[in-house]
Order: sequence, then structure tokens, then C-alpha cells
Amino acid sequence: MPQYQFLQWCLYALWALLVFAYGACLGSLINVIAYRMPKGISIVTPPSRCPACSTKLSWRDNIPVLGWIALRGRCRYCKTRISPEYPIVEAAVGFLFVVFYVIWYVVPGTSPLGGALNVLTPYWAVMNDASRTWPEFVVLLILVASLFAMTLVDAKTFTIPIQLTWVPAIVAAVVYPLHAAWVSRPGSFGVRTTPGWNWMIACPDVTRWDWIGLSLGGMLGIGIGLLLLRTGLVGRSFADYAEWEAKAKASAQTADAVGTAAAAQQDQPNADAAQITTSTPTTPPSNSAPPSSPPSSADPNANPEMWMAYPHARREMVRELAFLAPCVLLMLVGWYAGRHFGGVSYDPIFGAYSAKAAAPLWLAVLSGVFLGYLIGGGVVWFVRIFGSFAFGKEAMGLGDVHMMAGVGAALGWIMATLGFFGAAFVGIAWALLGRLAGGGFKRMLPYGPFLAVATVLVVVCKPAVEWGLSHLTGQPIRLP
Ligand SMILES: [Zn+2]
Repeated sequence: MPQYQFLQWCLYALWALLVFAYGACLGSLINVIAYRMPKGISIVTPPSRCPACSTKLSWRDNIPVLGWIALRGRCRYCKTRISPEYPIVEAAVGFLFVVFYVIWYVVPGTSPLGGALNVLTPYWAVMNDASRTWPEFVVLLILVASLFAMTLVDAKTFTIPIQLTWVPAIVAAVVYPLHAAWVSRPGSFGVRTTPGWNWMIACPDVTRWDWIGLSLGGMLGIGIGLLLLRTGLVGRSFADYAEWEAKAKASAQTADAVGTAAAAQQDQPNADAAQITTSTPTTPPSNSAPPSSPPSSADPNANPEMWMAYPHARREMVRELAFLAPCVLLMLVGWYAGRHFGGVSYDPIFGAYSAKAAAPLWLAVLSGVFLGYLIGGGVVWFVRIFGSFAFGKEAMGLGDVHMMAGVGAALGWIMATLGFFGAAFVGIAWALLGRLAGGGFKRMLPYGPFLAVATVLVVVCKPAVEWGLSHLTGQPIRLP
């Protein structure tokens, strides 16, 4: 092996180690989030402590993965067992980050991994090109870490904390336009992108003021919807759920009490038979509150069967449509305004759009982030609203809507849509695995983890899918 190649590999190994350490540290943060957020404890204070003896952990104990191994999985002070979930999460996030690093920046070229893996590399991530694409790589890693945290919390509590879904969206809305402004300054080299696209996520072309107008209008509409929600002009959906649950539980309990009283009466020789027959058939009003159901906590989602029995799902969808009305309206207004004032016209001879003036790249990229947010969340919301109307039960959670909106902002609308539809297949695969494992994991799982896994799979497999589609159709198919 030539010497320069050896040095190159040392460099790769060093970077992989750094990426792993970065992932493990974020994994450590994810552990804190997954432990504290459902309990409503602040993530910053107090500092990590042993849950059994409350002793503050030293910096050595806090080192991801290694800290747990050094302690052999027991608290230094009280020797209580520490769950292996913590180092496993840290190592898994680190490993996932290294996988992306290897696919993006190591595989292409003359690696001993071979040319077969080259199809996994996206167009914009060419070997040794990390200096020009690292901001996008960082956004991707932050998205993956956020999805990991959402999956853990969702699997444990059936709730996705909305703040977690904002992390990738905000990071993408800041990093991408800044990077675009940086590379479009005079004398810059620009960035590598998928052919036919001008950024690494799906963005409108710089001549398409209509799409830019639509995305800006849509985000403005979301802002107005939130304002209406805050002022109370639009009602929050499922706002009366807790009240309904309390009532349903109370009447279920009275029914139980009446049943017990009736059973007691049955033992009494003088009991009035007619009274027994009238009181015993009383059943709980909701057939989904089985007597064995656990006592409810403050969180309505702690009891998913109960949640599904809520009878007003259709009515609540009308509220959500009211929230969405300004968004839809302003999208249309933005579309026409952009078309009109931007002078967007289609030239059938060249088969291309033109405009009075090209939009700056950062604006087109910001618009791509917004479009991803609106379409990524919109597809899920569409299914939620129509599913709820059709079945009279809540279909897809609002947390899933927020999650895919965040995914769309970070990866663009194409990837978010692919991820959403891919999640159904991941769900089917999970069910089949459960069947094979003999009902080993019968536990009902919320949809969020499937969405997260499908999103990561889509990111990894997209170049391979393009490659396959291109070979099948004989035409180059390229997705940003
Ligand atoms: Zn302890």
C-alpha cells in the first residue's frame, strides 16, 4: 500500500472516531431527553444523578459508553444496576453517524469496500468533498439524532414532544440558506448537487417565484393559525379529551360499583329480583375501558385504548381544518402573487420557465425548506383528517405530522413523502417479525418509530433506488 494511501486511511479512521464520539455525546443527551421529557423535568438542570441514591455523577461516569463500561453497569456509590439502555443508545447513535460518514465520504473512490457500495453515495457527497458539504452533513446528523430521541420517547409514552420536531426544522431553516448565501457569493465554487437540482434537498428553481410565493404564504398561514389558536378564535383540537376521559372513567366506575352492589344483593336472601336484573346489565358506556385497564395518569396518551374510544374525532377534525384554512388560502395567494409579480412564464420551445429576475439562491433554498415542512407535514395531516373522517377515530397523531414536517424541512419534500409511504412497509415488516417471533412483541407501537426508521432507510437507500429505477426505465432518474 502506498504511503499516501495509508495516511488517507488514518485520516478516515480519525474522522470516523470523531463522528462516533459526536454521535455518542448526542446519544447521551438523547438518554437524558428520553428519561426526563416524559416526566416534565428540565433537560439542563439538575445535573445527571443516580436515580437510586441521588448522588451527582462525576464527569468520568458521564462519558458516553465508556463510563458505563468502567462502572460495569453499577452506580459507583450505591451499586444499583444502571440500565444497559444508556450505553446501547449512545453506541447506536454513534454507529449510525459513522455509517452515514462512511457512505457519504469514504465509500466513493478507491476504497477496499469496493465499487458495489458506490451506489449508496448521493451525487453531492463525493470523496474528499466534505469541506464543501459538511453543513448538510451536520443537518442530517442532527435530524437522525432527533428522530432517535422522538422514537424512544414515542415508544415509551405514545407522545412525540413537539419541541424535538422543531430542532431539525430550525437547524435546516438556518443552516441551508446561510450555506447557500455563502456559496453564491462572488468568486465561490458553489456546491455539488444532484444534476438538475440546485441544492442538496429539493428546492424550487430560482425562476419559480410561484413556488417561492406559495411556500412563504404557507408558512405565514401557519403563523396566523397559531395566532388564532393562541387568541382562542380557533379551538384547540381534542381540548376536552381529559374532561371526557374523566367522565367516561367515572361512569365506568359507577357501573362497576352498581355491579358489585348488585352482586352483593344477590347474596342476600331478601333481595328484590327485579332490581337485580335492572342494575346488572349496566355496562360501562365505553366498551374500550376494560376493567383491567391501568389507572390513568395525567397524560391522556398514557392510555391509547381510551384515546381511541374518544367519540368526537370527526368534530375535532373540523377544528383542525379551521386552523389550516389560513395556510391553504395564503399558499394560493402566494402562488398567484409570485407568478404575477415575478413574471414567471413557461417557454414551450426551450421547455423551461423564465422570470423577470432570478431569485437569490438562499431564498430558493429557504423556500425548499418551507416546502419540505409544509408538504412533509401536510401529507400526514391529509391522511389524519381524511382517515379520522372516514373511521370516526383519530388516524395518525399530530406528533407524526410535526415529525414529518421536521423531516421535510431537513431533507426536502420528496424524501419526506417517500419516508411517509415507506413507513407502512416498515410497519408491515415489524408485524411479520412479531408473527415470526411468536407474538414476542405484541406491544402496540405508535407510528412514530416506523416513520423514523423509514426516513433513515430512505436516506440510506435513495441512491440505490435511483440506480435501480434508472436501470429499469433506461432513463436517468435523479432525486435530490
Ligand atoms: Zn446510586
